[in-house]
Amino acid sequence: MLIVFIGPPGSGKGTQARRLLEYLQLPHLSTGELLREARATGSALGQQAARYMDQGRLVPDALVLAMVDEKLRESQYTKGCMFDGFPRTVPQARALDESLASRGTPLDKALELRADQDELIARMLRRALAEGRTDDNPQTIAHRMEVYRQQTEPLLDYYRFKGILTPIDAMGTPDEVFSRIKAAVNKGRDGRVGGVRPQSAG
Ligand code: AMP
Repeated sequence: MLIVFIGPPGSGKGTQARRLLEYLQLPHLSTGELLREARATGSALGQQAARYMDQGRLVPDALVLAMVDEKLRESQYTKGCMFDGFPRTVPQARALDESLASRGTPLDKALELRADQDELIARMLRRALAEGRTDDNPQTIAHRMEVYRQQTEPLLDYYRFKGILTPIDAMGTPDEVFSRIKAAVNKGRDGRVGGVRPQSAG
């Protein structure tokens, strides 16, 4: 099963994605995490990406696509995965579709987390205190929100048009949001996902 997870910064995407992949027993492919790892190791990619990340800008498509393509060759991803933070732009979505089409495994679902702007900002400021992420400061947060609106929101139409977009209300506690996600993923599947009954996690 192949799932794309879309949501504005602060929508709980990372937390919910981790819970969902444990529930579905799928590997995770988070471009934000991969880029932070690349950066921590000081690789050439990490150094190039850091400049964009620190300004709350998107890392250029070519860098991200090459990184994802290499990652998808790993055997752990042959049964599917959950994409988190990717695709972020329509060109990335098209490139992903082409790459998956060549493997004969199209995307199953695009889950969209939706929450009020005030709630999103409050959550990110709390995360900045808790985790010390360098891109969670008020200026960068505002910029990342704007980038989401301009570059990532058009993806919603892209997936809506393909008939695989599922909006999820991301307001409320993490447990409430996760219940909605599970319901959306299991809809029409009789509790089975990809032929496998999911683990009873939460
Ligand atoms: P995230 O952890 O998904 O919020 O990503 C943190 C930062 O990494 C973003 O603000 C971007 O600078 C960069 N990034 C992550 N995923 C992508 C992507 N798919 N395309 C471009 N930049 C990305």
